[in-house]
Amino acid sequence: MNIILLGPPGAGKGTQARILVDERDMVQLSTGDMLRAARTSGTAMGKKVADVMDRGELVTDEIVIGLIREQLEDTSHAGGFIFDGFPRTLAQADALGALLADMGHKLDCVIEMQVDDDALVARITARSTCGNCGEVYNDATKPWPADGKCSNCGGTDQTRRADDNEESLKTRLLAYYKQTSPLIGYYYAKGDLKSVDGLGSMEAVAAAIKGALG
Ligand code: AMP
Repeated sequence: MNIILLGPPGAGKGTQARILVDERDMVQLSTGDMLRAARTSGTAMGKKVADVMDRGELVTDEIVIGLIREQLEDTSHAGGFIFDGFPRTLAQADALGALLADMGHKLDCVIEMQVDDDALVARITARSTCGNCGEVYNDATKPWPADGKCSNCGGTDQTRRADDNEESLKTRLLAYYKQTSPLIGYYYAKGDLKSVDGLGSMEAVAAAIKGALG
């Protein structure tokens, strides 16, 4: 099964993708994670995208489509792919359809995660992750453990994303509404869209996604 998790920044796509990876042996393909890894390792492409990402704007279609193409070619299909944060433009959506078709695969479902904008701002400004394993924390609802160690892996590197601040978030939300939200209509018209309420607890949203996937 190949699925897309579609939603604004802070909708919980990464958190839900991790649950699907654990439960269904699927492979998470997050273009945001790939771009952050390129920055950390200091590649030419990583340097090129750093400022754009920090401002909260989208990097070029060419770069992210290239990253996804590489991953699709190099990764065993396992229980299927979860596209997290990709596609974000109509050109990326068309390219994904073509890449999957070339490999003899298809897209099975697009899950739109609906969350209101005030909740997104609150979530993102409270968000941190484990720098070692990627476990996601929230200062209010799931605080970083008092002993300073990640509850998942025991790592001690609590990190906050450079673009998780109110200024970049405004730009990221605008990019979502201007460039990414048209994909809701695109996938609806293709008959692939299922919408879930992304506002509930992590477990409630996971259950709603399970229901939508059947
Ligand atoms: P994310 O981790 O998905 O929130 O992505 C973080 C940042 O990486 C975004 O604000 C963009 O600058 C960039 N990015 C990630 N995925 C894409 C994509 N599919 N298209 C363009 N830019 C992306």
